[in-house]
Amino acid sequence: MKPDILSMYENELCEYVLSIGEQKYRSAQLFKWLHSGTGLDGMSNIPKKMREKLAENALIPSVEIEEKHVSEDGTVKYLFRCHDGEFIESVFMTHEYGNTVCVSSQVGCRMGCRFCASTLNGLKRSLAASEMLSQVYTAQNDTGKKVSHIVIMGMGEPFDNYDNVVRFIRLLNSENGMNLSCRHISLSTCGLTEGIKRFADEGLPVTLSVSLHAPTDDQRDAVMPVNRRYPIKELLAACRGYFEKTGRRISFEYALIDGKNNSQEDAATLARLLKSELPGMPVHVNLIPVNPIKERDFKRGDRQATEKFVAELEKRGVNATVRRRLGADINASCGQLRAKKLEQN
Ligand code: SAH
Repeated sequence: MKPDILSMYENELCEYVLSIGEQKYRSAQLFKWLHSGTGLDGMSNIPKKMREKLAENALIPSVEIEEKHVSEDGTVKYLFRCHDGEFIESVFMTHEYGNTVCVSSQVGCRMGCRFCASTLNGLKRSLAASEMLSQVYTAQNDTGKKVSHIVIMGMGEPFDNYDNVVRFIRLLNSENGMNLSCRHISLSTCGLTEGIKRFADEGLPVTLSVSLHAPTDDQRDAVMPVNRRYPIKELLAACRGYFEKTGRRISFEYALIDGKNNSQEDAATLARLLKSELPGMPVHVNLIPVNPIKERDFKRGDRQATEKFVAELEKRGVNATVRRRLGADINASCGQLRAKKLEQN
């Protein structure tokens, strides 16, 4: 296997460059080029001979644009092809505060959430740090707009690919790379508590989003199989630990599914749960009217039900917002484009 030089930290790249008989300062040049998303051909201050050596001996696992869908609201959805022919999805979104890329961490997913399109065909493989970076660099170069925020909320479960995801974040963070602050990075997990505990000790002040989606274990078991292994109380205890170590507010995602978890009673139960398990902790609930996928018959409730849900949470002192739907006209929910592509092939 050829070494993946886009996944290397600066010191590792330096060692590699020395090992192929090149001088140390070349590695700084190479690192900058790699992390601006430039291919070997564009690395103008690196001698052709060295570029040829790299082309032959090293791997730069960049993603290529297979499909691109542009929404009326400016959101861009990409179906990317990996070097081995696998497909992944990313979304580019513009907000008042900057531009965000939603990154996939795996090809497919094995968590089995009932409402999610990414998990329909199971897990194919995890992505290397380079392949996560390349989603960002390719979207940035294609749109010509600087990316300021990253959300790891695409296909896959980031804590099921823990080491590569942490490497990805550290590389985003590196001064000679994008130099992106951890405060501009969010990571969403379905609730692998071991991952949350480990991540709390990494010293990376990333915003953690936790996919909760139900106020009781019975309801959560029914939509998220992962709950049988890591039930709600255990999950919330890990969240409390994360807050205590990082001081970062936790955001809970809650997909509103008609007749399953969107009643006023559910909202009251959710508020009581968060208050009792996370006393004094600042939390935010991000409500997402479920995006129906054709393989399942989950429906979103009407606007009134959503408004009542929000009002009930707020009455009980729980901060909540309904997620703005970007790119609804282009199937921007992750997993849908890939599922369609797999069907066609
Ligand atoms: N594996 C991570 C990232 C998944 S995608 C996690 O589970 O958090 C990001 C968010 O979208 C998660 O909260 C996920 O549960 C949610 N999601 C997936 N499919 C959805 C759908 N059809 N409608 C609404 N939200 C969905």
